[in-house]
Amino acid sequence: MDLKQLITEIEQEIAAAEIKGQEQLEAFRIAYLGSKNKLKDLYKELKSVPNELKKEVGQAINALKTLAEDKFNEAAEANSKKSSGNLSKFDLSRPAEEIEIGARHPLAVVRNEIIEIFSRIGFSVSEGPEIEDDWHNFSALNFPPEHPARDMQDTFFIQKGDDEMALRTHTSSVQVRVMEGEEPPIRTISPGRVYRNEAISARAHCFFHQVEGLYIDTDVSFADLKQTLLYFAKEMFGEKAEIRLRPSYFPFTEPSAEVDVSCTICNGDGCNVCKYTGFLEILGCGMVDPNVLEACGIDSKKYAGFAFGMGVERIAQLKYRVNDLRLYSENDVRFLEQFKSAY
Ligand SMILES: [Zn+2]
Repeated sequence: MDLKQLITEIEQEIAAAEIKGQEQLEAFRIAYLGSKNKLKDLYKELKSVPNELKKEVGQAINALKTLAEDKFNEAAEANSKKSSGNLSKFDLSRPAEEIEIGARHPLAVVRNEIIEIFSRIGFSVSEGPEIEDDWHNFSALNFPPEHPARDMQDTFFIQKGDDEMALRTHTSSVQVRVMEGEEPPIRTISPGRVYRNEAISARAHCFFHQVEGLYIDTDVSFADLKQTLLYFAKEMFGEKAEIRLRPSYFPFTEPSAEVDVSCTICNGDGCNVCKYTGFLEILGCGMVDPNVLEACGIDSKKYAGFAFGMGVERIAQLKYRVNDLRLYSENDVRFLEQFKSAY
């Protein structure tokens, strides 16, 4: 077929093409502008055109291409005007769909609150490894080898080469590291996850979270400890909160005490949550045993200190009335969503 005739035919075809709507627009694009369009065949034919005519025919094909592009652009513009006409049916001023924002885990909320309460009176935050050696988890804390106190905490041991390591049973190990590395005065809390080899139930878990506190200076007394804990109880549980201390035993403190807070439910009058005692156990504390100070390179004749430790789960349980420890690690969204309003 004569190339010139073909060009004329396509020219008429383009001019006559009716483009209504998106589908026809796309069909036109494929036919005249797509990767296998009709004009490409014309360009191929151009090779066989005698040299003296090449320029003229080439320009004619280029003109076809411009014609197709113009027609396409015109139709596309008309088309988009039409569809924006449809858009105006929608109310663009309406607020967008609500974005779901996750909630902080209740343990993170409580941990952060504990950190904040102590940071207000000058406690820094210290962290340490969860896999510990015997020295930092036991020996430096006055747990000699074979000492029965080691049985107080069921431990997960890990063999690492010739060394026996353990998943830390308390964050007191972090306090040992701080005492070894810093000169008093020391005022720090160590929040973190700890592990105990216990059967999982509503009341016990193989891991939980602690915040332990340590204050060492030249003139630290048991009265300072008691006042610090009373401040904490009032900040955490409200102005009416009272504390009471009961004598206890820990290897790393002497004297040692368990601390109870007045029942957050009955305010001390007695209810089934506090088993009609009016008090709930919240933490353990004491004056740092001089053996511990000496083991960590601190002169126990010059310095004294107090330490305390609490379970984050226990505080959260009292604050949110959660009575099953397992709920904290099951990641049930129905449980976690309830803490959205907490900060
Ligand atoms: Zn009560």
